[in-house]
Amino acid sequence: MLLTYDQILEQLKEKGINLSYQRLKVLDFLYKNQIHPTVEQIYLGLVKQIPTLSKTTIYNTLKILINAGLVREIPFKGRESCYDINLDPHGHFCCDSCNQIYDFQIDVNLIKSKDLEDFKIRDRDVYFKGVCSRCLSKI
Ligand SMILES: [Zn+2]
Ligand SMILES: [Zn+2]
Repeated sequence: MLLTYDQILEQLKEKGINLSYQRLKVLDFLYKNQIHPTVEQIYLGLVKQIPTLSKTTIYNTLKILINAGLVREIPFKGRESCYDINLDPHGHFCCDSCNQIYDFQIDVNLIKSKDLEDFKIRDRDVYFKGVCSRCLSKI
């Protein structure tokens, strides 16, 4: 279930994490722009409003939120990492043509392999790549 903004703040409080104004703005941006933004996109989205914002602050904020289990990093090979505040189990599709990242519904918890029977699994990710239907329809 997607957490509400208040629930996220509540969780931060419970974990003893105090976010400064700039850091809260980064969290706010992630929440309002659930487009899997990169650090660059977050920066460009906020710098007009907060001219003193630095990319280092954004990186550090993301690190805190990832460690708190509230944001997930999506490391697609060959492109900048992007960040997702939607922690519901879902897969990601990256379009080779428009570079957009799409969410798709899949219960990643149902994916199992005999080869990993004795392993402790911390996280499950499903990544697909290809060309999205919007780009395909333009060809
Ligand atoms: Zn596309
Ligand atoms: Zn996503």
